[in-house]
Amino acid sequence: MAGSSGSFDLGRHKPDHAHDSSQGTNEIASSALQNTGATEMTFIAFIGLGNMGSGMAKNLVQKGFQVTAYDLSEQALRKARGFGCRTTSSIEEAVKGAKVVVSMLPAGEHVDDVYINHIIGTVTKDTLLIDCSTIDVATAQKVAGVAENHGLAMVDAPVSGGTAAAQGGTLTFMVGGHHTAFDHAKPVLNAMGKKVVHAGGHGAGQAAKICNNMLLAASMIATCESFQLAQKLGLDPQVFFDIASNASGQTWSMTTYCPVKGVGPVSPADRDFSGGFASALMLKDLGLAMAGAASVNATVPMGKKALEWYQAHCKEGNSGLDFSSIINRLQ
Ligand code: NAD
Repeated sequence: MAGSSGSFDLGRHKPDHAHDSSQGTNEIASSALQNTGATEMTFIAFIGLGNMGSGMAKNLVQKGFQVTAYDLSEQALRKARGFGCRTTSSIEEAVKGAKVVVSMLPAGEHVDDVYINHIIGTVTKDTLLIDCSTIDVATAQKVAGVAENHGLAMVDAPVSGGTAAAQGGTLTFMVGGHHTAFDHAKPVLNAMGKKVVHAGGHGAGQAAKICNNMLLAASMIATCESFQLAQKLGLDPQVFFDIASNASGQTWSMTTYCPVKGVGPVSPADRDFSGGFASALMLKDLGLAMAGAASVNATVPMGKKALEWYQAHCKEGNSGLDFSSIINRLQ
């Protein structure tokens, strides 16, 4: 089993974080978890073995966890058996006896249904619940609240990094929940990632994820339009890259994930935008960011513009292409 990273100052994350509204039930869940030894946490139920979940479950198996997996897809289950998971024919069967449940599901409605109708009433009180899906803040807080009312600790732990990071065990996890639950989740998350950050109370992981991706979407569009303008003004894209990547316009979208073929490190642009992070997923995350913004009356003009651009891009048939393919709308 992976050790804990110990690289974060947990003392800074107090249980009375602004997002953490259900302190009393948090304590119940925390005291139950304190009886959970690391070796007991070897038994993990993994729900949702799609593009991301399969790589994550594989890493858990490789790090010595015993993983029981469930997915609606028989093909996904067959693949999971191939890398060492036990599989079941229901969620209830998968989570029975598990000390940790990890889920990686498409959207909030799936998380709501899977936890509220299948998991929360089935698991024992010492089971830690970790949802790694990207969902809306409100649903993450609602499901964690229901779990806590049943004496169960839950964290939202969405990820940064795509399928390659899921396969390689190099995801970054942004975690929302009580600090005790975070401590218990860390060894499991460390087995699937390179960095695990406690963002705050319930929903804070999701908040971090959607704010990060809103910024990424806007900065990708800005990077694309800068390359396009530079080229139209007669600059060689490589020359512009060499300058801007060492100047104040430098962005991750440019230096690590350059949307121009043949410029910068290898990126989806070099393989005609296949693989990577699909435009449809970026659009999904922008929708979540707009819902979050509306819920707190935040003004997000760049995020709104980015949403409109990805909506149009997906409508034009590019949903499956990497999100950096948005550069093609600027030609
Ligand atoms: P996916 O569609 O490939 O996988 C989801 C899996 O969940 C599928 O195998 C599906 O059969 C299963 N599923 C759905 N409902 C279920 C249920 N009721 N019970 C059991 N299994 C069920 O999606 P993905 O690309 O793996 O993404 C999963 C999550 O990770 C999403 O929330 C996504 O936004 C997030 N995410 C994805 C990426 C990426 O690059 N793909 C990156 C970061 C975050």
